[in-house]
Order: sequence, then structure tokens, then C-alpha cells
Amino acid sequence: MTPETTAPAAHPGTPAPLRLSREELLAALRARGEEQRELHAAALNVKKRVYGDDVVLRGVIETGNVCRVNCTYCPMRRDNNRDNSSFFMSASEILERAGHIKDAGINVILLQAGETPKAAAVVLEALPRIVAHFDGAVEVILNLGSLGYQSYRRLREAGATTYILKHETSSDLLHAETRFEKLSQRIQEWYLARDAGFRMGTGIISGLPGQDYESLADELVFLRSMDPDMISVSPFVPAPDTPMADVPPGNVDDALNFLALTRLEHPHALIPSVSALEKNASGGQGAGIAAGANVMTINFTGDHQGEYLIYGKQRYVVKTEHVSRVLARNGARRAGSVWVGSSARRATAPAAAR
Ligand code: SF4
Repeated sequence: MTPETTAPAAHPGTPAPLRLSREELLAALRARGEEQRELHAAALNVKKRVYGDDVVLRGVIETGNVCRVNCTYCPMRRDNNRDNSSFFMSASEILERAGHIKDAGINVILLQAGETPKAAAVVLEALPRIVAHFDGAVEVILNLGSLGYQSYRRLREAGATTYILKHETSSDLLHAETRFEKLSQRIQEWYLARDAGFRMGTGIISGLPGQDYESLADELVFLRSMDPDMISVSPFVPAPDTPMADVPPGNVDDALNFLALTRLEHPHALIPSVSALEKNASGGQGAGIAAGANVMTINFTGDHQGEYLIYGKQRYVVKTEHVSRVLARNGARRAGSVWVGSSARRATAPAAAR
């Protein structure tokens, strides 16, 4: 298989990316009341011009909960590995769960796990079987952490098409304090994965300690240089058994305004309305759809769901019924992958920021 990067066919009259000044970004991030409604309506209008009423559904399988990284906000951090009940799905288990996703009429599969070579190896084994099970008509997204160029190539050649490697924050200091890695390393990995032929997703956490509106504006400017195919924003969720358990949750309005701005600045991006929005505010995911998001993810992890502690045991697990309600309330309709069957080719990857 030849790795390639493609974009969905643009609808006629596709809006150009907006480039707001710093003052405009700051005002939009702070918007509340009528100004906020106008911001979200403008973002929704852009989303509709590109994607109509469609919201892409994807099914996530969390394939393992052991991680070699030690993020201060995550209960699956390395320091907790010994105390957590650990699991790795086998390739056959992953395939079985992928079958449930196919049966649900969904053709986008997200495989995610804590960062370990073992999790990547099992996914590598499962990938050709998943692709064969869907007769090739499937988009497989991976979220397995920093693995290095050769691993990305193998995973791409085995049939995965998209890779999510979130940098979470583009602040050197905050990145080092929360992830104990250099931001530059993470960004280098992101471009390595892109060079290996993946479409690329990234994401940030809003509401981290020390962040302010200036920092969020910095994040939006940073995203311009990356030009990702997918962008997520998750309001910070304080999780038990982490050094950040007592930090207040991230403000959902801030996250929604950030989401709306990503839509205005990246009209074609796939932008999920994430479960953290719902966790921090009931109705948060519907508000995300109303602010320009066009992706929702349904959990198909099955028996191991309770052991995948991304926000602790009390996380909000998204089910099909919830997604159906959110879509109905927002006049949206479920859709499949924008990539499967698309022949449009993306321009070459931007060289900026490498
Ligand atoms: S957020 Fe991801 S990389 Fe960080 S500790 Fe948790 S599972 Fe590992």
C-alpha cells in the first residue's frame, strides 16, 4: 500500500480559513452571552458549508491501559501502572470489537492505548484483519503515542490511515511540567508520523493550571503552522490518583469558544465533540456540535471499559443512544468517514515548524 495523504472533496463555495488577529482571538475566547452565540453560529455556518448536517461517527476500542509516560493529569500514568488492573487486548479481541463497530454501521475505527511497544505490536497484528473484515472500506485511526518513524511506517502499511498524536499544550514549560517530555520531541514525532503517510490529528487540553486566554490564543496560532487534519480540544478533567486531582475542572465555555475558533481557522478539519465536554457539563457535547464540531465517538471497548482510566472510573462513556439524542437535538445526521472512497489528494505536508 502506498502511503498518501488525501482530503475530502470540498463542497462548492467552501469558506477560506479565517485568520483572526491576536486581539480578535482574545475577544472571541472570552466571549459570553450574545457574542458567544454569534461566534458559535458563525462556526456552525462554516461547518455546514463544508460538511452540511453530517457528523462523522467513529467507534473507539481502547486496546490497553499500560503506559510508559507519566502525564500528571492521567490515572493511567506510569507511576500508577503497578496499582491499576492492567490489560492488553489480543488481536482477536480487537477484531471482535471491530466487528461490533461494523455491525453498528460505522466505518471509522479509532484504536487507542497507553504508549507501549506491546500495544503497538498487537494493533499491528490486528490491522490487516480489520481491513479485510471491512473489505478495505474502513478508516482506521490510531492513537498509540510516540513510536518512531519505522513503527509509523509499519502501521501505515498495515492499513491504518490516520494518526492522532496530541501535543496537549504548546507551552514548553507546561508541556515539560505535565508530560515530562520536551514539546519539540512531541512535535518532531508528529511530523515523523505525517512523513510516514498518515493524515494527522492533534489536540490540546484547555484549563490546565497556569493557562490563560493569552495561552489559548498561542495555541490557536501554533495550530496554524501544523495544519492538522483533525483537531480536538478537551477541557481539563481532574482525575483521582493523579497529582492534579485537586485542580478545578476546565471551563467548558472556554473549550467551546476554542472549538469554534478552530472551525473558523480550519474549515475542513475533523473536529470531535469530546466526552470531556459532557463530563464537565451535561449537554456539553451537544454544545460542541452547535459550535462547529463534526465528529462523535462511540465507545466499543466492552468488558475492559472500566479499566481504561483516562479520566478515572467516573469518566463519561459515550453510547450510541446518547449520540443519537445529541444529533437529533441539533438537527445533525450521522455520517461515515469523509475519507473512505474519497479520491481527492491533499497538498503536500507543510514544511513549516519542522
Ligand atoms: S495521557 Fe496518554 S500518554 Fe499520558 S499517561 Fe495517560 S495514557 Fe499515557
